[in-house]
Amino acid sequence: MGLRSGCKIDTDFSGGIYLPAVGAVPAMDSIETVEYVGDLFLPLEVDGREIAVEVNPDKSVCQGDILGRTDGYLLRAPRSGDLAGRRKIRTSRGRRCDSLVLRIKNRSEAENHSEAEKSSDQAEHSEDALVPGGIVGSSEAAHAIVLQKIEQAGIVEECSGQPLAKLLERQSGKTYAVVANVVPLEETLNGPLTILQFWPEQVYAGLTILKKFLAADRALLAWPHNFALDKRTARAWEIRAVPVSGKYPQGRPDALVRTLRKRRLVPTRKTKENSTLVVTPQLLRQVERAVLADSFALERLVTVCGDMVKKPGHYLVPIGMPLVELLKQAEITAQPHHVISGCSLAGKAVDAEQTVVDQCCESVMALHRLPRTAAHHCIRCGWCIDFCPAQIDPAQLMQFAETGQYHQANEIAVNTCLECGICSYICPSNLRIMENIQIIKRKLQPDKSAGKRGRK
Ligand code: SF4
Ligand code: SF4
Repeated sequence: MGLRSGCKIDTDFSGGIYLPAVGAVPAMDSIETVEYVGDLFLPLEVDGREIAVEVNPDKSVCQGDILGRTDGYLLRAPRSGDLAGRRKIRTSRGRRCDSLVLRIKNRSEAENHSEAEKSSDQAEHSEDALVPGGIVGSSEAAHAIVLQKIEQAGIVEECSGQPLAKLLERQSGKTYAVVANVVPLEETLNGPLTILQFWPEQVYAGLTILKKFLAADRALLAWPHNFALDKRTARAWEIRAVPVSGKYPQGRPDALVRTLRKRRLVPTRKTKENSTLVVTPQLLRQVERAVLADSFALERLVTVCGDMVKKPGHYLVPIGMPLVELLKQAEITAQPHHVISGCSLAGKAVDAEQTVVDQCCESVMALHRLPRTAAHHCIRCGWCIDFCPAQIDPAQLMQFAETGQYHQANEIAVNTCLECGICSYICPSNLRIMENIQIIKRKLQPDKSAGKRGRK
């Protein structure tokens, strides 16, 4: 999970709702930059850790200024404006707060600032041209600069919510392949393809940077076979384009790695020295911008869709913008009953009033209703087992969760669960299977880290 501001999970939803008719599929030929001038709520927590803020709450800041940091994660100002606390502030002086509020007072000033920054970056980096197949500098010093720039940009790996710089440091020399995943989770969530279509050079450059940095053997681009990909450009960058099925849950990183293993494009046995890193085109673009243009990760491309959205599309949104404001820009027809962050099968229901666009937010669906009815007892039909792509026994796992036998779950490989939500969808008794599996995984997590500490 990423950075949230007082996010409340809607308990009426726990994944497993397949809604192919959630409204129109967003067009892939336009990206709308959101002109939002209201308050930005910058959360002070990432991955459960507090961000230390050492600023005067009434101080003015410029776009890109560092507001706070924690263990590799940087919080930067997405716009120029005044800082103000909401409720209580957590600062070096020890007061507490949920989020920091950035009041945008002068938008033209913010734009001038970023324009000046861009032109000085271009001048500085004009000699650092990245060409297909090569990247400037492979020395240790260049390596350190790349890492520093990624850290300074404040880029976060979306799946884990970890700072990317930390992840890269750990994985350097231990990664066999870096995979750009442009397979949409569902037809309506075509944001990854849109990013590739709009900024192909940036995506390919970002992938090349990561491949060189990690000293990986391969750079792969996984794309849905029915999409018209310009393979020549990929080849020019020495990137192997791998067509895969677009069928759910292929877009999930675990499922993708499994497919690549079956095709022997990555090592079939997972070892610590031979891992596969799956990244999104959005992250690759941020890497390219950070390394070659010294730009910061201050905004996200968010796909907004759903049967209550009049203008489904791709919106470039400043980090910290309340979801409810984003939904207004997308012209919701009425107050949505359910707002899902992520896909309809395995996304998370959120309270739009209390959630902001964070470093991990990729898509939002505003839905009128969910077709789930009351849950009944398990009738042992076995459908969940038949349809599980991880080939585990979801019904058994659910029983373990209900009886608190979390450790028994390890015996049937609970960690191989992709959290795709198919079991919950297929279950004729409407049982919240995926939610129970998530509970088991969470319960087992602290023990895992304790084990690691013990081995050291
Ligand atoms: S057990 Fe996990 S992988 Fe299998 S169907 Fe359920 S959510 Fe998907
Ligand atoms: S699909 Fe539902 S009812 Fe059927 S075995 Fe699985 S948990 Fe039980």
